[in-house]
Amino acid sequence: MSLDMAHGSFGLMAGLDDQPLDPMLSLLALLRNDPRTEKIDLGIGVYRDALGRTPVMRAVKAAEQTLVDGQVSKSYVAAEGDARFVSLLAPVVFGPLASDDCLSGLQTPGGTGALRLAAALIHRLNPTARVWLGTPTWPNHATLMQAAGLQVVEHPFFDTATQTIAFDAMMGALSGMRAGDVLLLHGCCHNPTGAELSAEQWQAVGDLVLRKGVVPLIDLAYQGLGHGLDEDAAQARALVARVPEAIVAVSCSKNFGLYRDRIGALWVKGPTPQAARRARDLVTLSARTLWSMPPDHGAAVVGAILSSDTLAADWRAELADMRSRITAMRRALSAAVPSLPEIADQTGMFALLPLTRDAVLRLRADHGIYMVESGRINIAGLHDGNLDAFAAAISPYLPQG
Ligand code: PLP
Repeated sequence: MSLDMAHGSFGLMAGLDDQPLDPMLSLLALLRNDPRTEKIDLGIGVYRDALGRTPVMRAVKAAEQTLVDGQVSKSYVAAEGDARFVSLLAPVVFGPLASDDCLSGLQTPGGTGALRLAAALIHRLNPTARVWLGTPTWPNHATLMQAAGLQVVEHPFFDTATQTIAFDAMMGALSGMRAGDVLLLHGCCHNPTGAELSAEQWQAVGDLVLRKGVVPLIDLAYQGLGHGLDEDAAQARALVARVPEAIVAVSCSKNFGLYRDRIGALWVKGPTPQAARRARDLVTLSARTLWSMPPDHGAAVVGAILSSDTLAADWRAELADMRSRITAMRRALSAAVPSLPEIADQTGMFALLPLTRDAVLRLRADHGIYMVESGRINIAGLHDGNLDAFAAAISPYLPQG
């Protein structure tokens, strides 16, 4: 048999077209290849210090050292990960609510893993559930939900031109939710807009969720980078406490700086402790088919930090410094660009600037300023050395510029 004949019966990949590159990865490649020394990187969503670095946090380094010295095995832990890590992280996420028996959690590979498991759970329990996403949102939200076979419905969230939450339009659209649907909410530090619902708006959303019989799915990926660990989780906690069923996806990528170690967690709240445990067991079965066992290193590091008063205090202190730097950059940008006063009041690493795609591309070509084509910037990419240049460059492109 000739080689051609032998290959003739295989058709799996033969008709495959070029795949679209991930826009963030393309942006990174362009940035890397730009020789200009004054280029400004406001693209990928990682924290940067005043020197543009994404350092390993002090408590993480110290915890890793104890692991190097003390870890005696690399054997599997469990499909649900490290139970000690989950129980140590629960009070950070839920505060006093952590002791609620109706909450059951497991470790996941990052917040993405938690969201993917949430999607699998929703699909197992109600394949016709629709997941409501505010626009704009983190692009992975839709693809993660769709990957599990779920239908996504968009609702208005943010008006970029006025830099405000389109709350009436949002609530109007959400009146179309059906019992058994899922509403995805950003717990804090909204990506990509930085805009947060007020306490009253969370309350109104909670009322609607209860009235409609909808399950909230809260994505908490930036806890501690807005106003504080407890402050940033306050609305999520209040909503979880009010509703009989909820799902909470947590990422430790940003607040522990453990991006590449892939550490996060998922909690389900059920109407009874038994229902929550069963839902968690179902999620664990999904994990077995997706990655079988989550990576351990991040969980071991977070566990070592949270179980040591000294390391936990140092982690909180460094996180507070990161938060202060972001807040300071927000205020400085807003002061330098008077047409963007809202930037100072928004929270977290991101802002969605009212720039056209053309303007974003011009800024890239003329000034070496790298941001996502939507106009999203990573505020943490700004520092005293580039802020004025950035403000001057964008001003002519802003609506009032
Ligand atoms: N949710 C949001 C809104 C995010 O922006 C991110 C990361 O950028 C994640 C979840 C997941 O993060 P990771 O999987 O890296 O923990």
